Amino acid sequence: MNKIYLDNAATTPLSEEVIDAMVEVLKNNFGNPSSTHSLGQEAKILIENVRRDVANYLKVTPAEIIFTSCGTESNNMIIQSCVNHLHVERIITSPIEHKCVAETVLDMKKRNGVEVAYLRPDQKGDVSLSQLENLLKSSDKKTLVTLMHANNEIGNLLDIKKVAILCKENNALFHSDTVQSMAHMDLDFSDIPIDFASCSAHKFHGPKGSGFAYIRKASGLKGIITGGPQERSLRAGTENVCGIVGLGKALEIYLKNMSSYADHIKEIKQYTIDQLSKEIEGVKFNGRSAEMEHSLYTVLSVLLPFKDPMIGLKLDMKGIAISQGSACSSGAAKPSMVMMMVLDEEEMDHTTPLRVSFSHFTTKEEIDTLVEALVEITTSFQIEKVNSEHR
Ligand code: PLP
Repeated sequence: MNKIYLDNAATTPLSEEVIDAMVEVLKNNFGNPSSTHSLGQEAKILIENVRRDVANYLKVTPAEIIFTSCGTESNNMIIQSCVNHLHVERIITSPIEHKCVAETVLDMKKRNGVEVAYLRPDQKGDVSLSQLENLLKSSDKKTLVTLMHANNEIGNLLDIKKVAILCKENNALFHSDTVQSMAHMDLDFSDIPIDFASCSAHKFHGPKGSGFAYIRKASGLKGIITGGPQERSLRAGTENVCGIVGLGKALEIYLKNMSSYADHIKEIKQYTIDQLSKEIEGVKFNGRSAEMEHSLYTVLSVLLPFKDPMIGLKLDMKGIAISQGSACSSGAAKPSMVMMMVLDEEEMDHTTPLRVSFSHFTTKEEIDTLVEALVEITTSFQIEKVNSEHR
């Protein structure tokens, strides 16, 4: 059975060109980029070419890009170093950040006594910029604001330019987890006074185990992995040349095709909204995910009008790979923080969230199969409900 893959916010399939570029490196560029001989220097050039391409995309300088193993590492490095090396005493964040941000922030509170203030998202999942401004003005403590650009469960987009300006005006550092939006959107950091951002290649058809951190020049940030001069001494360890080349190829392909990919995916997303609304009475969409202008085009968070914790498994048995929320919290007994913010108690008890996440490979036929499967599951719940009322 051919699987239908609708979990692209968790990870994306590698494109053939990315695989070819990586295999070429594995076969022919095994040199250590720190070696001074030509084999080493050839590997070094491959890395520097990708660094230049990433920097061009973000309109920053190559020295501001530090390759890491993933988005999680980038976020850890930035937050930990802000506290340990830049003397941040207070962090302003939100309860709907990815775990790799949320838990690192809590760790800083526990281990370093950092004060943590949370912005409370409204029922749409948006944080309030006036609450942020009030918090920024309420203390003289050295502050880091860490707020994600695109939410991985509901796709809500934050106006990172406004937040960055607000932080700058109030002398705070600003980090944004840009893992879901990087490559999918135009990001011009020459126009956005952001200090730190993160990227993970496997979210845009690159390999797992390859990402980068954007670290604004002269920020003074240091690394958390020590013991070598690699990556300007900010991230010790022999570089993952093949992974970095894969990231570079995936970025090149996505940027070249961004507008056609985005057009296709938006059409598919709208089609999914229309079909689900037509076929399943009572279906809703969480946060701003059904609002094209205010959400990441790859994510649609659906709320099914019945409670079924087994929905993921049932769809998997029908050949559809999909997550209920974020991949890292799927399987968790507790509902995600994001859902706790956007759903009321009644909805928590009687509905099922489902995250449909698309790529340019997604077709309308695949969406038809998903809708058909969901109609079947919904119908069986309705029959069960009627039967239990007559028992
Ligand atoms: N941040 C967000 C918003 C994510 O969606 C993810 C992955 O799901 C991460 C961070 C972690 O990225 P990685 O899988 O590269 O560690």
